[in-house]
Amino acid sequence: MDDIGQAIAQLKKELSPDTKLVAVSKFRPVEDVKAAYAAGQRIFAESRPQELFSKVSSLKASGECCDIQWHFIGHLQTNKLKMVLPYVSLVHSVDSMHLLEAVDNYGRENGIVTDVLLECRISGEDTKQGFETSGIPAVLSSPGRYEGVRFRGLMGMASFTDDESAIRRQFAEIRDMFDGIRGGAYGVPRERLGNFTELSLGMSGDYRIALEYGSTMVRIGTLIFGERKY
Ligand SMILES: *Cc1c(COP(=O)(O)O)cnc(C)c1O
Repeated sequence: MDDIGQAIAQLKKELSPDTKLVAVSKFRPVEDVKAAYAAGQRIFAESRPQELFSKVSSLKASGECCDIQWHFIGHLQTNKLKMVLPYVSLVHSVDSMHLLEAVDNYGRENGIVTDVLLECRISGEDTKQGFETSGIPAVLSSPGRYEGVRFRGLMGMASFTDDESAIRRQFAEIRDMFDGIRGGAYGVPRERLGNFTELSLGMSGDYRIALEYGSTMVRIGTLIFGERKY
């Protein structure tokens, strides 16, 4: 087995059967996607619309890996939706009301329903991306029929830090919100929560901690494919 295959096998051993391994192939050539696919990997994620689109197109042209499920995990501008939404089974990174509404509109206009996670800003870092965790119930309860999206859960990225207690605090914050919403603590309409089952937490450096906090999807790039060259 090659290095990519070995890394995937190793990770799968650590994950319970109901935790999904999302292979983050951003900045890697399509050959690496094929190698991971050959090792049995089926869920891949990209963070840039053009890169997703070109990998999807290249595999389609060669007729390979046609049962890959693509996820999108990066910041998505509303003018790029057509490069992304037709090809993905899940967008992890819905990070604003503006984007949520655009994804919903796109779905209604094109007759598709996009599965989405709401990205929470848990890192406390100075970024504008993501919802405040405390604002999530209001987003989920907002008026509008949302026929073009299906709310599937929450996503969070912890700080890049060696301070494990900070990472734990951040994962706990989003997990508590996730559990509270599902448990009915915030009065979110029940019909919005029928498929609200996913908690996307954890990357190469912190996935073991994320699993302790109930992550249902870990997004792993470096550990599978090696260091990225930007
Ligand atoms: C790049 C990226 C990852 C993967 O990071 P690694 O540290 O390489 O595992 C996970 N999630 C998001 C949102 C990313 O942008």
